[in-house]
Amino acid sequence: SNPGLAPEIKLRDGYLMPTFGLGTWLGVTKEGSLNEVQDDSVEKAVEAAIDSGYRHIDTASLYKTEPQVGKAIDKKIKEGVVTREEVFVTTKLWGDQHAKEQVVPALKSSLRNLTMDYLDLYLIHFPVATKGLSFIPDDTDYLETWHGMIEAQKQGLTRSIGVSNFNEEMIERLIRETGVTPAVLQIEIHLNLQQPNLLKYCRERDIAVMGYTPFGALFPSKAASGAPPPRIDDPALVKIANKYNKTVPQVVLRYIFELGVVAIPKSVKASRIRENIDIFDFSLSDEDKQLLRSYDANYRTTTVPFWKDHPYYPFKPW
Ligand code: NDP
Repeated sequence: SNPGLAPEIKLRDGYLMPTFGLGTWLGVTKEGSLNEVQDDSVEKAVEAAIDSGYRHIDTASLYKTEPQVGKAIDKKIKEGVVTREEVFVTTKLWGDQHAKEQVVPALKSSLRNLTMDYLDLYLIHFPVATKGLSFIPDDTDYLETWHGMIEAQKQGLTRSIGVSNFNEEMIERLIRETGVTPAVLQIEIHLNLQQPNLLKYCRERDIAVMGYTPFGALFPSKAASGAPPPRIDDPALVKIANKYNKTVPQVVLRYIFELGVVAIPKSVKASRIRENIDIFDFSLSDEDKQLLRSYDANYRTTTVPFWKDHPYYPFKPW
């Protein structure tokens, strides 16, 4: 077996998950609509990632990047760099297919896009159902969706099942009503949103946590006006980075790893893809971690404001 650069953790269902992955969401335009795939940049990014030692790729049907993820993994398998077993593939169910009987067909459609015969991890993307491929909310209960996920796992279409953007009460409800605990929770985690209570809850329940948008507001080009500090040129961060002969993005990703969270930074640039995973040869001092902890500001970048009045809106207090 070829585990790549990141250590693996054992999920509660017994499967191994690499503790670092590549994100493949292309983000939103200035007007707020989703960026569409225009070229083969995601395919090239996934190839570069596997060559750099990544063994975990995060995608979603919403991102429309599954076909490129699948092509790149196929290519690396044909080249003999990895086997399918050695790559951990996560994708997500969108809200328009939340009815129980829609989950298995949605998963099969993702598998066709990926040209694969099983997933490693299938996540409910958000607890809120939608009308079509939009953000217009619908009222299907996510509990019904979870029953569909359990069925998909029973059929062997995915090894593990989990949820994304669920809060503690919602997860407790899934467990109480079905007896099946999600193996993974994927949530926003970065310096300004460290979510210590939710992480503690997940440790107690043995739920692995994946952290999305790990850079938060670190890069001035991505930071919304009014976003809390720090930025990438913050003198205190630069000082820590210099001490370890690392970059500021590497210090941030190492900190998230030391929180016990599986970061999935996105980049389509090969040099950054390599830079981001090169964090497994140093560890942060308690003093450095104390400073990094102090940037926690309960500041969220993915707020889905159009769902804030929905009964399944997960982020409270608004
Ligand atoms: P990230 O925090 O990963 O930031 C990505 C941005 O940082 C890109 O603009 C990228 O640019 C840039 N970047 C990456 N590495 C570096 C570096 N070393 N130096 C400078 N700039 C860098 O944000 P995302 O929101 O993309 O989150 C990561 C992944 O998490 C997503 O791609 C997706 O897979 C997942 N996600 C899941 C969500 C959910 O609801 N479950 C919600 C949001 C994200 P460039 O590509 O040009 O290098």
